[in-house]
Amino acid sequence: METITDVQTMQERCAAARREGRRIAFVPTMGYLHEGHLSLLREGRRRGDLLVLSIFVNPTQFGQGEDLDSYPRNLTGDSEMARSAGVDLIFAPEARDVYPAGYATYVQVEGLTETLCGRSRPGHFQGVTTVVCKLFNIVQPHVALFGNKDFQQLAVIRRMTRDLNLPAEIVGMPIVRETDGLAMSSRNVYLSAAERQQALALIDAIRLAVKRVGEGERRADALIDSVRQRIEREPDAAIDYVQICHAETLEDMETIDFDSVLLLAVRIGGTRLIDNHYLFQEV
Ligand code: AMP
Repeated sequence: METITDVQTMQERCAAARREGRRIAFVPTMGYLHEGHLSLLREGRRRGDLLVLSIFVNPTQFGQGEDLDSYPRNLTGDSEMARSAGVDLIFAPEARDVYPAGYATYVQVEGLTETLCGRSRPGHFQGVTTVVCKLFNIVQPHVALFGNKDFQQLAVIRRMTRDLNLPAEIVGMPIVRETDGLAMSSRNVYLSAAERQQALALIDAIRLAVKRVGEGERRADALIDSVRQRIEREPDAAIDYVQICHAETLEDMETIDFDSVLLLAVRIGGTRLIDNHYLFQEV
């Protein structure tokens, strides 16, 4: 395994691998790896013969007052985990090399970015699509793997890939959870013990909604109400959004069907957590 920080070196290495006929599998991350990231790497290992992991805390996807500076970082620990997952190349560039002075070009996906997290984090998805597009141009992956944990992000990246004819196959992977159901996230380290307990309200609320669907409830507003009520029981929880959307269009639905996804963003103390689940799927 090798770690490369230089953009041009990385691009040349990947171009050479492609010329040699190697199939490049790519997992872009912001580091501070956990089992969720490892599940993507293991699937990438299966699907490609050069496995590339990028670790880059991308400044353009953070808004003013968000946690860019405090975002957890641990390149040494990440490298060990990456090695054990069979990564061939880690790409860990510096922000000043990804966005040199005078940088002026951004990728914007319309529509899908205007709801959910796009509403509460203006500019976030433009930062995501810009960096993913740049990373695709550097790594030139045959296949790129993303988690369903960031459900809207995956939908936006699929759209960008299709709209810009980027020659990568996009693979979505299931959410990996802690044994008590909390979706794994690098940001979970921010939670105090009391907040960690309250964070279970998200999966609890999802379970409640799925149960009500099992009992026959089909009205989105009724389901959203019970989810909100469950979360509002926690003293340090502040709901950013609770929506039920069509999995592909991300449009709000009034009556749920097999394409309905419940999506949540909740602040527990100072930590913003997201989660989602298909309403007709067992938890
Ligand atoms: P991040 O480092 O948080 O930007 O995440 C990098 C990739 O890992 C994204 O595609 C995420 O959707 C994915 N990911 C993060 N958490 C999980 C999880 N709990 N289960 C599955 N994938 C995840």
